[in-house]
Amino acid sequence: MPGNTLYIVVPCYNEEEVLPETARRLEDKLRALMSAGKVSARSRVLFVNDGSRDKTWALIEQLHRGGRLFCGVNLSRNRGHQNALLAGLMTAKDRADMVVSMDADLQDDVDAIDAMVDKYLDGVDIVYGVRSSRKTDTFFKRTTAEAYYRVLALLGVETVFNHADFRLMSRRALDGLAGFTEVNLFLRGIVPMIGYRTDTVEYQRGTRFAGESKYPLKKMAALALEGVTSLSVKPLRMITAMGFLVFLASIVMIAYNVVRWATGNTVTGWASLACSVWLIGGLILLSLGVIGEYLGKLYLESKGRPRFLIQEVLGGEEPDKE
Ligand code: UDP
Ligand code: MG
Repeated sequence: MPGNTLYIVVPCYNEEEVLPETARRLEDKLRALMSAGKVSARSRVLFVNDGSRDKTWALIEQLHRGGRLFCGVNLSRNRGHQNALLAGLMTAKDRADMVVSMDADLQDDVDAIDAMVDKYLDGVDIVYGVRSSRKTDTFFKRTTAEAYYRVLALLGVETVFNHADFRLMSRRALDGLAGFTEVNLFLRGIVPMIGYRTDTVEYQRGTRFAGESKYPLKKMAALALEGVTSLSVKPLRMITAMGFLVFLASIVMIAYNVVRWATGNTVTGWASLACSVWLIGGLILLSLGVIGEYLGKLYLESKGRPRFLIQEVLGGEEPDKE
């Protein structure tokens, strides 16, 4: 029988509007799971404050004082969703047997946690929360997201379709995750690499309970690019292929021009020339950009900077001594 202490990790960035409701629902859920005997009395909700500018941390402190069920991790500053989530997972890892990660805004269905815990108790290590539909997303978000995951698949990156960061991981899986030390972090691409027994749970994704999205288009585009460049080197190969094709084309062109010259026809017009100069110039700049993107990644990885710094931890059992 595996241990059954559950930690629910929730990254929060400026979430003062939703936090009280989220805390209330998670507390109800945790108590229900405890009285059903599915999770131990040492289970907790762990909020990670990702350098919020509003009263989020004060609220977390207040929740912690109000009941033993709530813990908090305060990061030294805003490090972004993926790093905040990692900080929470790594803190929870030594205190829990299974960890569920979810967003603070209640878009992830709290009731899906039951099914996740059941699967864990059956011996599954990673349970992915998968949305049954994207009805509540805007048309733009839905189409771009779906196209993006198709592109990732084409580039050889394995992801779980329609899964974001709502998932359960066992302690063993988290230990595995700890071994992936990359600074450029795209969790939903890395978790499938861990392996072990996996399963999925379907849920309806709701709309944000209150407050506004902390993922403006710019951050979303950055996360999307991160997903590609931190997990696939195919774009670099595509540049090689493109260079090869252009080279072949130029050979054909040279041969054609030599024949024209030999048969006494001089090529007139600068349009074709100008066009090809711009075309090749554009392709070169694009290729340099792609290479630069990877070089930048390499630069950051080689520094091995910490992915997050923890200012303060509130509550929870002390980590097990080795
Ligand atoms: N988040 C975070 N740090 C950030 C941005 C977001 O911890 O820099 C958290 C946020 O509080 C929420 C989760 O990441 O719990 C997902 O953000 P959001 O719901 O705004 O994204 P969306 O659902 O719009 O994609
Ligand atoms: Mg959201």
